[in-house]
Amino acid sequence: MGEIAEDMTDGSCCQNCGQYFKHPKGGIYVHGYPVTCWDCWEEDDEESGVMKADVDTF
Ligand SMILES: [Zn+2]
Repeated sequence: MGEIAEDMTDGSCCQNCGQYFKHPKGGIYVHGYPVTCWDCWEEDDEESGVMKADVDTF
């Protein structure tokens, strides 16, 4: 696991709160691009181009 800033950039954790994403089969889910977790994501974010996470956080 890298630096938290790096993990936010590759979508291992929420770019807003830093919660890590849980892979359905175990471990950390990496999106490959910055995303916001379901708790942080709001409808306004869609217009500003913020991507919503595919999976839940830990
Ligand atoms: Zn979050």
